[in-house]
Amino acid sequence: MNKDTSYYSAYSILVVEDDAPLAHNVLTALEQEGFLVDVVYDGTMAMHAITERKFDLLVLDIGLPGVDGYRVISHLRETLRSSIPVIFLTARSTLEEKKTGFTVGADDYLTKPFALGELTLRIKALLRRADNVSGFLSELVHGALRMSVRNQQVWIGEKEIHLPKKGMQILELLLKHPGRLITRESLEHALWRQEVPHSDALRSQIHILRKTLAENGYTGIETVSGSGWRLHGEQE
Ligand code: CA
Repeated sequence: MNKDTSYYSAYSILVVEDDAPLAHNVLTALEQEGFLVDVVYDGTMAMHAITERKFDLLVLDIGLPGVDGYRVISHLRETLRSSIPVIFLTARSTLEEKKTGFTVGADDYLTKPFALGELTLRIKALLRRADNVSGFLSELVHGALRMSVRNQQVWIGEKEIHLPKKGMQILELLLKHPGRLITRESLEHALWRQEVPHSDALRSQIHILRKTLAENGYTGIETVSGSGWRLHGEQE
């Protein structure tokens, strides 16, 4: 187990591979990195799995009995509208076949035989990129305060702080732009779109948020009179 194990345990990966010994080796390698891993051995099971559950990444063999990898990824991209990273595993290595793979929506490609270490490196790179693209940075930090956007958890020092959903949203917006003014209008829009319940709704959410954080020693949220709120720049 390496030191990143707890970090990667937030990611679930589906491995689709009909070569059972290879599937087992991939499973073992990924579990050692801390990932949550499911394995299925044909395309029909893969279609079922991705329809029923959410995964963060797919490791997908192309040559599968029955429904092949191309059809699985088409289902994922077109029917389920999912943009999660997909890495193709295949014995096919001609340029033309790779081109087809990327055209149907693969993010990366590994030709068999491959080193398991290379697979895990590529998976980590793809997940990092996907997190950045979707704004799901692994962690936002301001002074002693930390937020895992992905898991919607907040800590001050070592202590986990429980916040209501709206408070979590407000804090996330502030943390993404430390030092910058976040206006009342933009916060209201982020929280309620066009349907702000009443004029004091935001103020009371911020009051609860600040109070909860202050009770735990964090006072980084500053009021900018008449305009909005921001995090103190000096704590960046
Ligand atoms: Ca195969």
